[in-house]
Amino acid sequence: MIENTLGHQFASDNYSGICPEAWEAMCAANCGHALPYGDDEYTEKACNMLRDVFETDCEVFFVFNGTAANSLALASLCQSYHSIIGHTSAHVETDECGAPEFFSNGTKILLAGGGHGKIDLGDVDQIANRRSDIHYPKPKVLTITQATELGTVYSLDEIHAAGETAKRLGLKFHMDGARFANAVVSLGASPKDMTWKAGVDVLCFGGVKNGLAVGEAVVFFSKELAFEFDYRCKQSGQLSSKMRFLSAPWIGMLEGDAWLRHAAHANRCAQLLEERLRDIEGVRIMFPCQANSVFVEMPVKLGDALRERGWHFYTFIGTGGVRLMCSWDTAREDIDALVQDIQELCGEYV
Ligand SMILES: *Cc1c(COP(=O)(O)O)cnc(C)c1O
Repeated sequence: MIENTLGHQFASDNYSGICPEAWEAMCAANCGHALPYGDDEYTEKACNMLRDVFETDCEVFFVFNGTAANSLALASLCQSYHSIIGHTSAHVETDECGAPEFFSNGTKILLAGGGHGKIDLGDVDQIANRRSDIHYPKPKVLTITQATELGTVYSLDEIHAAGETAKRLGLKFHMDGARFANAVVSLGASPKDMTWKAGVDVLCFGGVKNGLAVGEAVVFFSKELAFEFDYRCKQSGQLSSKMRFLSAPWIGMLEGDAWLRHAAHANRCAQLLEERLRDIEGVRIMFPCQANSVFVEMPVKLGDALRERGWHFYTFIGTGGVRLMCSWDTAREDIDALVQDIQELCGEYV
């Protein structure tokens, strides 16, 4: 028996385990035999449930992780000589080891700026129109992340504006929704209004950070773009022969809206944490807390001291910037304990 010695952490929502609903659905799928490679009834049901969620007849595929989902989705939207316009902090740029470029055989990502992790549409316009000659990789896709890498959420108006910009510039519109559930809860909007109604062509719908073990959904709202996507999945090693264990947990998550409950819990925890940190002298909230993370600026020594006390968190945002991420199973007591430690250490290091 391996003991979990990690202790309490706010490092990432993928440190958490599998939520009960997904676990039970996986167990339920583990009785007897079923057809392989996605030809099973669980996969069919999960796809239909996702069609219900989005209130449209979309094409759905399940792949192992978010990098695969994003890379293959983006590759299906462009040719190798095209380019993808995305935010400088986009996961596809910073955390996928070049997989989007690799799977699209070299499609370049062109970077746009924008505050709070949201892409500046003026920048997008400028990048798309900068050149039209044959020497420039032709812009073909706009990608945004919802919720963003910095814990903010695009409003419905902002998504619509991005969709209109994409349409005007002749770009396909991709959404990295690794934390789509958190954004849905945050906006209180319908999944369809946040996606295809705003012009999104393909959504990479994350389940893992919201309580699944494995298996992100790639949802094509423009069916023609899904042409031969199954071959792309197979070639890249993303077609699971026991697909039902990727898809059945989605049934568990979608049934009874567990996905929304878990995301709501994570968002509430982040909000609570943010409210309590806001009152502490010596730390500063960096971005509006709109999903399940809080970004806090603090003296480096304070961060080090927190680590010494056993806390886990990321500091990829730069010196003194700490990301505190909540998940579907974040405990209230952990928030209390972290806040207390920060309060105590502030006395020493601020
Ligand atoms: C976690 C994450 C992904 C997916 O990452 P994998 O580790 O490949 O599953 C994609 N986009 C964003 C914004 C993420 O945070």
